[in-house]
Amino acid sequence: MKLARFDGDRLGIVDGDRMVETTDTVRPHPGGRLHGFIEAVAEHGRPPALPAPDAVRHRLSDITLTCPLPTPPKVVAAPVNYLDHKAEMTVEHTVADLGVFLKARTSVIGPGDTVVLPYTDMRFDQEGELGVVIGRRVRDLPVEEAMTAVFGYTCLLDMSMRSTEDRSTRKSFDTFTPIGPWIVTADEIPDPAVLSLRCWVGDTLRQETTVADMIFDVPTLVAYASSVMTLEPGDVIATGTPKGVGPVVDGDRVAVEIDAIGRLEVTVSARGAIPYGRRVGAALSPAGPMAHVPSPHS
Ligand code: MN
Repeated sequence: MKLARFDGDRLGIVDGDRMVETTDTVRPHPGGRLHGFIEAVAEHGRPPALPAPDAVRHRLSDITLTCPLPTPPKVVAAPVNYLDHKAEMTVEHTVADLGVFLKARTSVIGPGDTVVLPYTDMRFDQEGELGVVIGRRVRDLPVEEAMTAVFGYTCLLDMSMRSTEDRSTRKSFDTFTPIGPWIVTADEIPDPAVLSLRCWVGDTLRQETTVADMIFDVPTLVAYASSVMTLEPGDVIATGTPKGVGPVVDGDRVAVEIDAIGRLEVTVSARGAIPYGRRVGAALSPAGPMAHVPSPHS
């Protein structure tokens, strides 16, 4: 099933070019009805209800998709999880010795939304990634059981500033985690390693890979994350980016497309951006307000 939110907080199942409305099968949830759906599955072990045979079928062109999971409990992310990206970044370490990091849950936006760049004079890159959505509360999962905790998959952009700040800062600006356009349930993708991922900025194809090139595959990454922290229904895991990251600027359109999932598109704006040297606390930097060693770490 492709589960989507649309026109505010309505819930639907995508069927070709139609959206089968299933809003009334799930009660409103503070994290949106799709989050409520995931929690209902975690609680009862099955979907809340299927849409009635006479359910309304909207044309996709007549509705507006909204963020499938606007406030996930947390966003866990893998640094350097593809060898080709490790090479382009000339870094020594990978996810296997860096571990995972957290992105602010408030950085999440949805399809058609706008990534807002905070500074006028810094480099911001797109990182197209496979997003994994967790379906139940788990801790210390063995790798062999890790896939049982996966609810589904989505396209994800891990937007990143290149600077000296900690990863959690560079990647947590509001709007820096677009996800969508919907969530595909795990039963439709038994082996995510067979998927290919493509990412465009404007008309330029910047990234193209198969998920099989990951250093930590999905089961290893989920198991590893669960060895550090309790994973909860609705958590999102950004699985890392392949080579081809590069700068985005005001007015760019960024799209990430993954087989069997779909295509997520957002735009980029620098509206309201300020010079980096005018950021809060800049004057207290021992190296000066503009000093930064370009940090390639993704
Ligand atoms: Mn990333």
